[in-house]
This record gives sequence, structure tokens and C-alpha cells, in this order.
Amino acid sequence: MGKACKKCLLIVEKGTRCPICKSKDLSQKYKGEIIIFDPNNSKIAKEIDAKSPGKYAIRVK
Ligand SMILES: [Zn+2]
Repeated sequence: MGKACKKCLLIVEKGTRCPICKSKDLSQKYKGEIIIFDPNNSKIAKEIDAKSPGKYAIRVK
């Protein structure tokens, strides 16, 4: 199980740093997973403000 970045919600499978925003503030307590392929044409991507394709958490504690 990965960890979710508290800043951008990206799920980080390996390592301790978010590859998108470089934050080290990761949490194992997240809810839901969504995969975004095309951030520019995804309604969910806009809702969670995802700018890169990848796997994201819906909510992070
Ligand atoms: Zn991040």
C-alpha cells in the first residue's frame, strides 16, 4: 500500500517524497483511489486539482 501526498493527493508507491510537488508530507491514512490518465479532460482531476496523470487519493487525513 502506498502513501498519499497531503499537498497534491498523488499516491506515492515508492520512496518518501512526492515526485510531483516534492513534498515529504505523505500519509498512509487516505481514502479512495482514482487513476487519472488525462488531467486536462477529466472532471475529477479538476476537482482534486491534479495536473499530472497518475494515481490519486480522494481524501487524505
Ligand atoms: Zn504531492
